[in-house]
Amino acid sequence: MKSAAAVIVRYETRADKYSPKGFVRHSAQTETIEILADTWTYLIIREAFFGARRFAEFQRKLGIPRATLTKRLLRLEKNRIFKRVGEAGHHKQYRLTERGMDVYPITLGMMSFGDKWLCGDDTPPLALFHKNCRSWFSAKIVWAENGELLDAQKIRVRIPADYWTPRPKRTQRQRRSTWDGSVQGKRPCSVERMLSIVGDRWTFLVLQELFHGNHRFDDFMNNLEIGPGVLSGRLNNLIRAGFVEKNDARGGYNLTKMGLDSYGPMILMKVWGEKWVSRPDRSHFDFIHPSGIAVTPVAVCSCCGKPIHPRDVSYVCNYEPPR
Ligand SMILES: [Zn+2]
Repeated sequence: MKSAAAVIVRYETRADKYSPKGFVRHSAQTETIEILADTWTYLIIREAFFGARRFAEFQRKLGIPRATLTKRLLRLEKNRIFKRVGEAGHHKQYRLTERGMDVYPITLGMMSFGDKWLCGDDTPPLALFHKNCRSWFSAKIVWAENGELLDAQKIRVRIPADYWTPRPKRTQRQRRSTWDGSVQGKRPCSVERMLSIVGDRWTFLVLQELFHGNHRFDDFMNNLEIGPGVLSGRLNNLIRAGFVEKNDARGGYNLTKMGLDSYGPMILMKVWGEKWVSRPDRSHFDFIHPSGIAVTPVAVCSCCGKPIHPRDVSYVCNYEPPR
C-alpha cells in the first residue's frame, strides 16, 4: 500500500453539509448504496462484464456459495440490473440491462483506484485496451464539460428544494451481509480490493459525510443516525485502510490523499443513482464548478479522453484466468 500522508481537507462550504434537525439526505443515494455497495453483487456484475451469462459460470468463476448466488441473482433481477433470458435449466441466461451496463464506469473508476493505491508494487491484475483509440489505458474521472480531473475540495453543490427528507421512523433494518475478508473471489481484482474497504453501507455513508466536509464524530452521528459503536468501528476500518486519519488537534477525522482520491468512483455511484434510482418527481442535484458552470462526472480513457463502453474494451490478465 502506498503511504498516504494526511491532508487537511478545506472545503468550500457546501450547502448540504449539515442536515436540518429531523431531516436526512435525499434517499436516492441510500437506495443506490443498498443496490450496489454489496461485495458479492458487485463481483457478479463484474463477471457479467467479463462475459459470464449462466448460473454455473458465475458460481465457478467466483467460488460463491450456491444459495448466496441465487439470492444475489434474484436481487439483481428485481433491481433490473440483470434480465433473465430463456427458460429454466441449461438455456437460462442472465444479461445486463442498460441500467446494468451503466455500472461499467463505476467499475472502471474503482479499478483505477485499486490499481493506484491497493496493489503495492505489484503489476495491476488487468491491463485494459481501448479499441477505439488502440491504446492501453486506465480510467480517469473528469468533469464532462471541461475535461478537468475531479477535485472534491473545490466543488460546490446546488441542492434542490426537496433535497432533505423527513427522517424515517426507526425500522428494523434488513441485515446485509458485508465483506468480512473470509471469502475471496477467484480473480485478483482491484475492484474487489476497493470493495473490501468500502463495500459496506455504513462505511460508504461515513465516507460520503467526509466528502460533504464533515469531520466530527458528532456530525456523523447526527447526519447518519448511526450508533456510536457502529460509527467507531467503521472509522477504525477506514483508518486501518489508510483512507482516514484521526486529527486530535482538530478533534476529528480527515481524509488522507488516498481517501480523497476515492471521491471519483464514489461520485460515479451517486450519478448512477440519480439516473436510475431517483424518483422522477425529484429535482436534480447539481455539482457547480468554481467557474460557475454545472458539471457532470464521467469516466474517460486516459489516452483519448473519450467515455468508454464495455464492448470497446478488451483486456489482458496478469494471472491465470479461472476456467
Ligand atoms: Zn481511448
